[in-house]
Amino acid sequence: MEIVRRAASMQEVCAKVRDNGRKIGLVPTMGSLHEGHRALIRRASDAADVVVVSIFVNPTQFAPGEDFAAYPRDLTADVDACIAEGVDYVFAPEADELYSPGSTTYVEVAGISDVSEGKSRPGHFRGVATVVAKLFSLVRPAVAVFGQKDAQQVSVVRRLIDDLFLGVELQVVPVVRDEDGLALSSRNAYLSEEERRAAGGVPRALDAARELIAGGERQAEAVLAEVRRILEEEPTLEIDYLDLVEEYDFEPVSEVRDRSVLVLAVRAGRTRLLDNLPIRL
Ligand code: AMP
Repeated sequence: MEIVRRAASMQEVCAKVRDNGRKIGLVPTMGSLHEGHRALIRRASDAADVVVVSIFVNPTQFAPGEDFAAYPRDLTADVDACIAEGVDYVFAPEADELYSPGSTTYVEVAGISDVSEGKSRPGHFRGVATVVAKLFSLVRPAVAVFGQKDAQQVSVVRRLIDDLFLGVELQVVPVVRDEDGLALSSRNAYLSEEERRAAGGVPRALDAARELIAGGERQAEAVLAEVRRILEEEPTLEIDYLDLVEEYDFEPVSEVRDRSVLVLAVRAGRTRLLDNLPIRL
């Protein structure tokens, strides 16, 4: 496995791989890799000949006052995980490799970037779309693998690929969860013992929503009210947003439909927990 630090080197390496007729799979991450990331890497290995994992804590997707400085970083452990998963290249650039001084181009996926998570974190998806566009440009992958954990990010990237004719195949891996159902996240490391216990309320609430829907409930308000009720049983959790939306454009829906998704973020102390229930009827 090779660690690539420079954007130009990554571009060169990937061009050679493509010239040899080999298909590249890209897994963009911010590092601090856990089993969720590893599931994405395995999917990329199945789908492509050569796997590139990017490890980059992208400054532009953090708003001032968010946890950019505190975000967990452990390149040594990440490299070990990538070796264990048979990754071919780790791309771990410094920030000024991707944002050279004086660069002024940003990518904005309008509409979908401004609701739910985007409403709580203005500018977040502009940073995500921009870094994903840069990574796609450098690597030119045939396949890119993202996690359902960040449902809105998937929809933003899908729209980016469609609107800019990027021709990248998007593969989405289901949420990988801990024993009590909590979605794995690098940010779970911030949780105190009590917050970690209370966080179990999130998958419980989503399970209850799944059961209600399986039982025939179709009114969005009824499903959301039940999710809210269960989350409120845990006083440590504070709801940031809770929405039922169309998966493709994140427009709110009043009735549960196929390809809608229940998305939520809650705060446990200073940690934001994101989760969602994709709906297939
Ligand atoms: P991050 O490093 O948090 O930016 O995540 C990198 C990629 O891993 C994103 O596509 C995430 O959606 C995905 N991911 C993070 N956590 C999980 C999880 N628990 N299950 C599945 N995918 C995940």
